[in-house]
Amino acid sequence: MESQAMRVDGNAMAGILGEVFVQDMTAARIRCGGCGKVEPVGAEHAYTQAPGIVMRCCHCDSVLLVVTRTATTHRFAIGEAAWLEVGET
Ligand SMILES: [Zn+2]
Repeated sequence: MESQAMRVDGNAMAGILGEVFVQDMTAARIRCGGCGKVEPVGAEHAYTQAPGIVMRCCHCDSVLLVVTRTATTHRFAIGEAAWLEVGET
């Protein structure tokens, strides 16, 4: 089967993204792409004196995620985070 036949537009992500972003994100687990360590988001280091908030790995200081907020939006810039896992394991 060709990849175009299996593809739909990004609106198909609405349901699953809605499930993810209502959860407690501090308990989500994040894997650093720099050192490979996995920690809860709440255990990583957050720098709030930058434009937005910068989350850095508590082991190797790699930038994992940057979140900036305007009056109407939130922008997530994914840095060295290999993945983010939300929910019970
Ligand atoms: Zn790291």
